[in-house]
Amino acid sequence: MLDVRGLKKVYEGSGRRIEAVRDLTFSVAAGELVCLVGPSGCGKTTLLKCVGGLLEPTAGEVFLAGRKVDGPPPGTAFVFQEYGRSLFPWMRVGANVGLPLRRKGLSAARRRVLVADALESVGLADAAGAHPWQLSGGMQQRVAIARALAYEPDVLLMDEPFAAVDAQTRADLEDLVRRLWRERSMTVLFVTHDIDEAVYLGERVIVLSASPTVVREQLRVDLPRERDQSATRAAPRFAELRTHVYGLIQAAKRGTAPAARDAAVDLGKDSPPVR
Ligand code: ADP
Ligand code: MG
Repeated sequence: MLDVRGLKKVYEGSGRRIEAVRDLTFSVAAGELVCLVGPSGCGKTTLLKCVGGLLEPTAGEVFLAGRKVDGPPPGTAFVFQEYGRSLFPWMRVGANVGLPLRRKGLSAARRRVLVADALESVGLADAAGAHPWQLSGGMQQRVAIARALAYEPDVLLMDEPFAAVDAQTRADLEDLVRRLWRERSMTVLFVTHDIDEAVYLGERVIVLSASPTVVREQLRVDLPRERDQSATRAAPRFAELRTHVYGLIQAAKRGTAPAARDAAVDLGKDSPPVR
């Protein structure tokens, strides 16, 4: 579904040159839920913007369903980290959720159904008439998720969507994402700097190096499909996986990573899971 090949992004301007992403190659199958984890500043947002066609790569290519991405591809929805800035404060929740649908050329009646369904899915059926600023942070982020869902995306791109909410809300939203992923059979690419979140949510985790960024390792999360905030996080296998990823990220920060391209090749998505 999604193919990222040799992606590189260098920011240039006012005499500065920042190589945010050096060389990223990975793919995501249709209907997969993949988490990308890497330290802050390693280029996760940059990568996701390139995947979503919001930013032009310096080199390399992104293919979505076989088509090269050169602008926001149809069928893709984004949930940003800063929900506070991603909702329009002067529009009611229902109007915010329905906004991207206007571009789809749907009837007003169909739009109303999609908006109501999406709000229902995130447990906010009653909030359509409220303004975003009347809602808590976690509720606002659910509105942002509803807006992405209403669009009926094939691919959902999420950029640290829960970084700014409290721990309990975050746990609820993680479970919401897994439930929606299963119900709607979307392809989800979820970016986070939080190792536990990546392992808890993902079917597969792609570990990034520190900037300039390459793929450090990919691993399959062989935890049961049915996840539970207490049981899953208490499972020995969960601890093993998180410890493994933690070690990779610490090594990446210290710059002691082995050649990352080799790691990416050796531990492709069909490789056996780590011990
Ligand atoms: P992450 O999302 O992993 O925290 P980012 O993609 O936001 O990382 O940033 C990666 C690097 O690129 C950082 O060093 C950041 O300062 C730099 N960067 C991000 N956006 C820009 C920009 N628009 N102009 C210049 N540098 C940028
Ligand atoms: Mg970011």
